[in-house]
Amino acid sequence: MNWGDEMIETFSEGDHQFMQLALKAAVETQALGNLPIGSVLVIDGKFEGSAANRLHTHQDFDSHAEKLLISKSSKAIRKASEGGKRIELFTTLEPCLMCLGTAVLNRISRVVYACPEPYGGSGHLRPELIRPWYPQVWPTIHGGLLASESFTLLKTYMVKNSQVWGDVLKVYENPKSWSESPWSPFINR
Ligand SMILES: [Zn+2]
Repeated sequence: MNWGDEMIETFSEGDHQFMQLALKAAVETQALGNLPIGSVLVIDGKFEGSAANRLHTHQDFDSHAEKLLISKSSKAIRKASEGGKRIELFTTLEPCLMCLGTAVLNRISRVVYACPEPYGGSGHLRPELIRPWYPQVWPTIHGGLLASESFTLLKTYMVKNSQVWGDVLKVYENPKSWSESPWSPFINR
């Protein structure tokens, strides 16, 4: 698997609608002082729930949008998984190691993210390099849906909070790393 393997040409109308809901959750949590990241869980094509990043609100390292969402939906996820249903996670930023791991262990079928995360994203990890069980439960990962909308939100927050986020923003905007990645067309810099 290479950078870009998870990129697909087109997303469905439903994909767009769910990512719009995730972006709405991101905007709402930004108003509370949190980095704007939102997530939506979809089971069998139906909205199951949403959550947003609460790192600032909760003052911890744990309250990522995807992790909060999967934790609060964990029983529904298990029931759906055992019933052979399709479980999709839409999130406005490429998941970190913790959230991708949580998604894998919860048998999420598909992860769709908006903005690539060049600093701490894990969407391009190769499960076959870990241990044999992981490739069996690894989700399909698609990135780049409404990436510009998400990046604009993140950038606005990072500029406003540049004392903390300035260095991370530099990585996001690094022309070298972006030009070498297939994600650059998605981002309006
Ligand atoms: Zn995370």
